[in-house]
Amino acid sequence: MFLSTKNLLRKGAVVCILPAALLGCKASGNQSPGAASQPPVMNAVAPAPPQTADDAPPPEKTGGFDGKRAFAHVVKQVSFGPRPSGSQALVHLQDYLQSELKSYGCNVETDSFGADTPIGRLPMKNFLVKIPGEKPGVILLGTHYDTLLKDNFVGADDGGSSTAVMLELARLLCPQHGNYAVWIAFFDGEEAMKQWSDTDSRYGSRQMAARLSAGGDTKRIHAFLLADLVGSRNAHFMRESTSTPALTELVWSTAAKLGYSGIFMNDVTSVEDDHDSFLKRNVPSVDVIDLDREHDVPYWHTPQDTVDKISAKSLAIVGHVFLESVKQLQTQ
Ligand SMILES: [Zn+2]
Repeated sequence: MFLSTKNLLRKGAVVCILPAALLGCKASGNQSPGAASQPPVMNAVAPAPPQTADDAPPPEKTGGFDGKRAFAHVVKQVSFGPRPSGSQALVHLQDYLQSELKSYGCNVETDSFGADTPIGRLPMKNFLVKIPGEKPGVILLGTHYDTLLKDNFVGADDGGSSTAVMLELARLLCPQHGNYAVWIAFFDGEEAMKQWSDTDSRYGSRQMAARLSAGGDTKRIHAFLLADLVGSRNAHFMRESTSTPALTELVWSTAAKLGYSGIFMNDVTSVEDDHDSFLKRNVPSVDVIDLDREHDVPYWHTPQDTVDKISAKSLAIVGHVFLESVKQLQTQ
C-alpha cells in the first residue's frame, strides 16, 4: 500500500490508550521523519518484546475470535520466509491457506493468472472463500497475502497480520449461514515489484475486481471490508479518506460500541490499497490499515517487520470489529 503523506492529517497530541504495557502511548514529536526507517535508539537498551500471544484476550471477550490462533497464523506465515509473488515460499503459503480453509469446511475458489510486471510475467493466485446467504447480496472481506519483494523481508505485519485475521474469520464464519453471502478474498500481488504505481501494484485485487465485474457480481457486493497492517503492538486506525464514508462510519461506530474508540480513531489519513480496485468499480469499500510510520509501524517495509512486532490483542480487536461489522451489515 502507499501512504499519501500530503493528505495525512494528524490531530491528536499525546494520547495514552489502554494499559501502556499492552498497547503503549502515542507520543509525538520525538522522532524526526527521516529516522522513521531506523530502529529506535531505545531498542539498544530495552529488552526485545516477546514473540508470544500472551496479550491475547479470551475469545469470549472478542466475539469468539481467537487472538492466539490468529497469532499462530502469523508465526506460520513468517516461517515460510520472504513470500513475494511468484516465489516458492508463497506456494507453501498457498498450500497452507488452502488446507486451513478446507479444514474449516470453507468453499474456496482459486483463480490462477499471469500478471505482467516490471520484472516479467509472474504466476499469481487469488483465493475466494464463498459462504452462501439467503439473499443475493454479498459482504466481501479481504486481505493481501503476498509480501514485499525485498531481501530478508518476512512481512509479519504487512501481509501476515491481516491474512491471519481473515483465516480466523473464515474459521468462525464458514459454518454460519446469514441473510447475505459472506465472501473472503485472499489477494496475491498487492505489493509493487519495482515502484508503486497504478500498474505496478494491486495485481490480485485488480484481477478479482475485473473478474467479478465481468460476471455481474460486483453489483451484488454491498460492502468490501479490507484489512492490511492490523497487528502492530501499538495499533491505531485512522479513517481512510478515499473509503466509502458510510462504510467507514459503520466500522468505526461498531468499534466505538465495542469500547475500541481509542484504537479506531477519528483522525483522517489517505492510503492507496486493494480497496481502490473495488472503489473504481463502484463497490462501497473501506480500508482498515495502520500505516502510521512515525508512531505505530516504524518497521514498515523493512526487515524489522518481524513476529515480535505483532500483538495477538491487536489481531483479536480487529477480528472482533470485523465480526460485529459483518453482523451489522447482515441486518441492512
Ligand atoms: Zn506493503
